[in-house]
Amino acid sequence: MPSKPRDRTGEVYGRLSVIRLSERRTAAGNAYWWCRCQCGQEREVASDSLSHKIRKKKNVTECRECAREYATEGVCEKNDREEKQRRIEATTTRKQLNGVVPNDWLELPLTDAHARELGKKHFFRGLKCLKGHLSPYRINGGCLACAKEKKE
Ligand SMILES: [Zn+2]
Ligand SMILES: [Zn+2]
Repeated sequence: MPSKPRDRTGEVYGRLSVIRLSERRTAAGNAYWWCRCQCGQEREVASDSLSHKIRKKKNVTECRECAREYATEGVCEKNDREEKQRRIEATTTRKQLNGVVPNDWLELPLTDAHARELGKKHFFRGLKCLKGHLSPYRINGGCLACAKEKKE
């Protein structure tokens, strides 16, 4: 039996959030993970394709369908359109959370891309993570409350 892989649920790679371990293993015995794309589709991805490092070997950062759309529509156009929509949604959601969450969360950037633009590390879309935390996220890193749980 291969050893149990490190729990990667909640980690974010591009458009993918890792949601659960797959039964499948690569030829080398590495785990596959089920990931959910921002569009809602799921994709099974081998551990070694989930990385933030820039490498020759291609990292997987979206579901197959989005990858196909990127190839035809162009990554920039699709990303721009979706990013605009995400910021509108985050603005609306956050308005409803006024007084519910700490005020400084509502001053964070709206999205991952927004945080990068501003040179910030955290953002708050007003959405719950897979474990149900309402919490800011770290760029590329996922939910802060999850990260804290893992450390404890
Ligand atoms: Zn997708
Ligand atoms: Zn969480």
